[in-house]
Amino acid sequence: MELLGKSKDELREMCVAMGEPGYRGGQIYHALYAERKFEVGQITNLPAGLRTRLAAEATITVPVVKQRFESRDGSVRYLFELAGKEKDGIDQGGAEGREKRRTLRPASVEAVFMPSEGRQTICVSTQAGCAVDCQFCMTAQLGLIRNLTAGEIVAQVLLPLEEHKERLAPRTNIVLMGQGEPLLNYEAVMAALRILLDNAGVRIAPRHATLSTSGIVPGIERLAAEELRPKLAISLNASCDEQRDRLMPINKKYPLSVLLEACKKFPRGAREYVTFEYVLLGGVNDSPEDARRVAKMMTDLGRVKVNLIPWNPGALPYAEPTAERVNAFHKILLEKGVPAFTRYSRGRDVMAACGQLALLQIENAPPSVDDSR
Ligand code: SF4
Repeated sequence: MELLGKSKDELREMCVAMGEPGYRGGQIYHALYAERKFEVGQITNLPAGLRTRLAAEATITVPVVKQRFESRDGSVRYLFELAGKEKDGIDQGGAEGREKRRTLRPASVEAVFMPSEGRQTICVSTQAGCAVDCQFCMTAQLGLIRNLTAGEIVAQVLLPLEEHKERLAPRTNIVLMGQGEPLLNYEAVMAALRILLDNAGVRIAPRHATLSTSGIVPGIERLAAEELRPKLAISLNASCDEQRDRLMPINKKYPLSVLLEACKKFPRGAREYVTFEYVLLGGVNDSPEDARRVAKMMTDLGRVKVNLIPWNPGALPYAEPTAERVNAFHKILLEKGVPAFTRYSRGRDVMAACGQLALLQIENAPPSVDDSR
């Protein structure tokens, strides 16, 4: 029986089933997520008898740090090894909700820890590999290996926080922008977020959590109806359907008109924006015409902003945009009244930048993930 990833209610039910009072479940929950205790023996406020029983019957499985790449900019990219195991319960099979029992294969995933003034941002993976096949993304090259469990997602936040506990800034941001499409692993992602954003759990403020999607419209609609939800970011990367069909084949299933309508309807709290991420690929989607089309797209969508991310050179055949093209694109958006920001990815030297997470095991290499959210 795996404890990491279980909700407070599940832990309570487990304790009751063991003949213990339900509040013991709350103590385990606090120890796992607020105190980051990964061994039953460390949960010293539990009676010795319960600890002995849990040690025999339950596990707390944290991923193994296989490699750690430290960037010159202070970012750390982790390569985690995930154990293969029988999965508790039933896998809902993503947004479509197919139910099937499954055994989890061993897998490797990456997370990136990015410290900056007053905060740290942790970019986590939600799947090992990805099936979405965005043409500019290194992760797509892996294909989908498997969905991560809620515990494996939460652990990618807990482990870096524990490792840097002596020098943590007051605020932690999380971005679901690592390997995988979060909305195709919906149940596990939401179970993880309920723990991460819980005041009695990991205590990350919902406004400091961002979920980035390639545009899985049923998932966006489902997320919109959640009581507790992260901010929404859309990986846009194209200025028209024809271009997006080529760069992100998922667009053929959920074309821009359908995607933008879902974004328009997505609820926003005070001062909350839907963010559109736009990776600028030199000579592909970075022209002034592209900028004008993107600006037009942004009208009537409610509060939105655009993050421009100049392409990080990698193993794929795309070119970095010139500084002139980046500046001109940015200027057109601003002139059209669209809030726009240019984000140079962090951790380029360790292949931790956007679209670069693909298990590259670079010796002595440092990560580009936007940590400004
Ligand atoms: S950009 Fe995101 S959704 Fe697209 S292939 Fe890469 S990981 Fe998957």
